[in-house]
Amino acid sequence: MSAVRRALSAQTGRAIMPTQDPNQRIHNFAEVNLGLTAEQAQREAGRCLQCKNPLCVQGCPVNVDIPGFLHWGAQGQWEGALEVILETNLFPGICGRVCPQEHQCEGRCILGRKGEPIAIGSLERFAADSGAQDSFFLDKSTLAGETGDGEKVAVIGSGPASMAAAAELARLGYRVEMFEALHETGGVLSYGIPEFRLPKSIVAREFANLAELGVKVHTNVLFGRTLDLEDLWAQDFKAVFVGAGAGLPRFLGIEGENLNGVFSANEFLTRVNLMGAHQFPEYETPITMGKKVVVVGGGNTAMDAARTARRLGAKVTVVYRRSLEEMPARAEEVRHAQEEGIHFTIRSNPVKVLGRDGWVSGVCCQRMELGDAGPDGRRRVTAVPDSFFDLPADTFIVAIGQSPNPILRQGLPELKFTDRGVIAVDDNYATSIPGVFAAGDITTGGATVISAMGGGRGAAQSIHRYLQGK
Ligand SMILES: Cc1cc2nc3c(=O)[nH]c(=O)nc-3n(C[C@H](O)[C@H](O)[C@H](O)COP(=O)(O)OP(=O)(O)OC[C@H]3O[C@@H](n4cnc5c(N)ncnc54)[C@H](O)[C@@H]3O)c2cc1C
Ligand code: SF4
Repeated sequence: MSAVRRALSAQTGRAIMPTQDPNQRIHNFAEVNLGLTAEQAQREAGRCLQCKNPLCVQGCPVNVDIPGFLHWGAQGQWEGALEVILETNLFPGICGRVCPQEHQCEGRCILGRKGEPIAIGSLERFAADSGAQDSFFLDKSTLAGETGDGEKVAVIGSGPASMAAAAELARLGYRVEMFEALHETGGVLSYGIPEFRLPKSIVAREFANLAELGVKVHTNVLFGRTLDLEDLWAQDFKAVFVGAGAGLPRFLGIEGENLNGVFSANEFLTRVNLMGAHQFPEYETPITMGKKVVVVGGGNTAMDAARTARRLGAKVTVVYRRSLEEMPARAEEVRHAQEEGIHFTIRSNPVKVLGRDGWVSGVCCQRMELGDAGPDGRRRVTAVPDSFFDLPADTFIVAIGQSPNPILRQGLPELKFTDRGVIAVDDNYATSIPGVFAAGDITTGGATVISAMGGGRGAAQSIHRYLQGK
């Protein structure tokens, strides 16, 4: 590291992303994070120590060459930076916004040991948003030289796993057709993650790029019902990628969960994100939501549901079994939720939904205490006897995780699933049916956007090898 860079790094702290004021943003759905300025971005990239053995790269599920792109960024050369990122991550505008950086790249940054890690996610977002993305994305020469022979490959689902698979296959020279059950593309990026975290225009930009690459998208097609594998083979598809995600919400299985006013977070978020429920009567799909909302869960889904309910005018309480520090949600989302006035009732668990005249009137909870760490490293949770208390509520939103969609399973009875209910794949993402590959949440259970993208891309490369007979 040069003396100048060392001095610069010591002088300047981590760049802080400007945000919308919390009192303003609880009244709108516009993006909370406003993006770094060019000056902030360049200075922040310049803080990188350019480690010889960069741990941040190991922390990223797709091993983005972080020092490589920061090297360009430090000189204000964001096109060069973007080119480096796109070698491993085709969707930096999305990942820069939603990756749990504190557990991945930034969590391993050496500067974080004594000070503040480089704001890698914000810089990736900056590189993507700086306007040069399209030309690089569309440049087929960025791929490894080999090209497919124009054969047809089907992609089931349109979430991040499918987007990455489709992009990679199209860039390898295949004719790709994507089949999505919903009327909108993007999977969780569209129906789950709200506009205030990931603007729909960013997702739309990537689909426009996919269209430019020749990917054809068919919406409102439920694979396993509207269309099955035999149809695809009959239509001359030579291979199939399945990225159907984990869209089936789990419930607690407690008394009162069938009352009016109980939602799964998925349904709640879909109604707002895709069906414009918050814009009734402009959109004819209202949502019956009260003024006192209790959300159970501690992941990103819980934070998204809570912050969406807050923007719809509710007083919101999140109930979570463990402590704030142990929440699986991105740290930034928890902080933003707190800034927005969301109340957290931690070390507590709902045991019964209370009702009046068929509608939710409250949630009875029990205090929990944390015991020793289990084999997964997480501390066990046990209920404290006789520690029940009631929270008033007229809406109860359950955000405790999702399972793979069972319709796919019914439509593909010969496909092997694991004991956990996810599609069984080998190291090459191949399923038990020749020519059918799978990746993303449908093979891992609920995970992250970047791991789904990494899987989708890896599966596309396996499909290429399979079709080339290698
Ligand atoms: C509310 C919420 C917030 C999240 N926030 C974050 C975050 O901040 N950061 C992060 O890294 N991860 C986050 N995640 C997790 C992340 O979104 C998922 O890991 C990721 O989207 C998985 O991608 P996927 O492509 O495997 O599946 P999905 O995104 O679920 O996409 C699957 C697609 O397949 C379609 N489909 C399903 N069955 C069929 C069928 N039979 N025929 C045709 N189409 C079908 C679905 O409609 C869907 O569009 C969040 C998840 C949720 C629910
Ligand atoms: S893809 Fe995600 S984990 Fe990897 S460097 Fe970018 S922000 Fe970090």
